[in-house]
Amino acid sequence: MKKKVALITGISGQDGAYLTKFLLKKNYKIIGVERRSARSNNWRLDKLNIKNNVKIEDIDIKEINNLIRLFDKYRIDEVYNLAAQSFVHSSFQNPVETSLVNAVGVLNLLEIIRNKKNKIKFYQASTSEMFGESGLSNQNEKTLFHPRSPYATSKTFAHYTVQNYREAYKLHAVNGILFNHESPLRGEEFITRKITLGLSKILYNKQKELKVGNLYSKRDWGYAEDYVEAMWKMLQIKKPDDYVIATGKNFSVKQFINECTKVLKLKTKWVGKNLNEKLINLENKKTIVSIDKKFFRPSEVNILKGDYSKAKNQLKWKPKTNFSKLVKMMIESDLEYVRNNSN
Ligand code: NAP
Repeated sequence: MKKKVALITGISGQDGAYLTKFLLKKNYKIIGVERRSARSNNWRLDKLNIKNNVKIEDIDIKEINNLIRLFDKYRIDEVYNLAAQSFVHSSFQNPVETSLVNAVGVLNLLEIIRNKKNKIKFYQASTSEMFGESGLSNQNEKTLFHPRSPYATSKTFAHYTVQNYREAYKLHAVNGILFNHESPLRGEEFITRKITLGLSKILYNKQKELKVGNLYSKRDWGYAEDYVEAMWKMLQIKKPDDYVIATGKNFSVKQFINECTKVLKLKTKWVGKNLNEKLINLENKKTIVSIDKKFFRPSEVNILKGDYSKAKNQLKWKPKTNFSKLVKMMIESDLEYVRNNSN
């Protein structure tokens, strides 16, 4: 039987790496889109030992002509659009670039697929950040969006564009509204990895203190490897639709830090209030976590928690990894990383 061909944009990112691993096991041929840069940035594929099993094409998804040539070169069955300027904090500093990649990039792909004769299935990486301050305790596919960052507004444009192309041109296009998902392969700028790496470095005297923003923002944190399976499932069902993927539980940044100190067996105590709140290591009385205003967003998203019942019922998907297992996995991986890297 002919192998199915999947095109993964953003293959060098966290989800790109896990999705590649997942689809290779399903016997897909993988074409990965990666932006050209001075140094190779696919360390994640390397880490999963799958770098030599994929065909990498250097393309920026803002460049439609290069994408057209790519679609002419391969007979693609499924597109997973994971490429994005995905860091919310940077989106406030680079709103135009963020929108060109996250919004116009998606339009580029949809325009090409619409002009193709063969039916190409399309997965779009939508996000819980689109809900922003929804005012509800559980967000699902029917919850109104209230995006609170250029990242979220650009993803909302993409989300509605996917829906429009599905309705107008009958494309098999879906949005996966994924809540936060983390792993040892998460980028170091994201809060969970910043915490697990920072605390691991502090333990090995390679960093003095960890500075964070809002300790009280709550997120629904799942494990990335569980979530890529849902992406694939969404493209296998007959009628294309949008799905929330989440764990249904949320924890604050402070709770995430507390879970890490538990795994690390550190004796600690929170002292102070507001911007002066700190975490003290009781063994040497040193501050290990403090607050820095610069890490707050101009408009915060305080609480996100997903209701994944539709995915559970229709895709037969549910998360396999709970919060404490996820934190333990990330801490253990970063302890090993810090031990093996001298700086
Ligand atoms: P990530 O690690 O930041 O990966 C993003 C990828 O996009 C990177 O490979 C990056 O390449 C690539 N990229 C950026 N701009 C590009 C461009 N102009 N052309 C081509 N590629 C470009 O993100 P992730 O955590 O894997 O997330 C995957 C997708 O899911 C993203 O769209 C993200 O917004 C969305 N999402 C993530 C979460 C989450 O919690 N992880 C939740 C909801 C939605 P470089 O390596 O060159 O930067």
